[in-house]
Amino acid sequence: MNGVEEMYAEIILDHYRTKHHSGLREPYQAEVSHVNPSCGDEVQLRVALDGDVVADVSYSGVGCSISQASTSVMTDLVIGRSIDEAMGLAADFSDMMHSAGRYTPDEDRLEDAVAFIGVAQFPARVKCALLGWSAFKDATAKALAATAAKEDPR
Ligand code: ZN
Repeated sequence: MNGVEEMYAEIILDHYRTKHHSGLREPYQAEVSHVNPSCGDEVQLRVALDGDVVADVSYSGVGCSISQASTSVMTDLVIGRSIDEAMGLAADFSDMMHSAGRYTPDEDRLEDAVAFIGVAQFPARVKCALLGWSAFKDATAKALAATAAKEDPR
């Protein structure tokens, strides 16, 4: 490994050892469970919206270091952002993970998520890295639908 790869491996390990924002919290508008059967990763995730802002993302998960660390990094990036900004970050992360490593990530924008660029070279692990993000996108869509149903009960 070169210096950058070592640093990225260390970032992933740090998030795996000490997951940020972990645990399931109240209040929330939607909860989802996503699994990655090819690796055995699982995440249960809740989203709380405040208007168009992602007020909280809480989760509980088991699985490999990549799936768990990626979920931790995702919460750092999206909590407190507008839904549009958060979805933009999710799209950028997805592009990076589907690039087979041929991608120059914007470190100012993706922060610790750039550490997963190396994982993008291993197709079997890409789903691990995307699990938490997929759960977040799904839960946010459900939370928006729940909010809309409450405002317009027809
Ligand atoms: Zn995995």
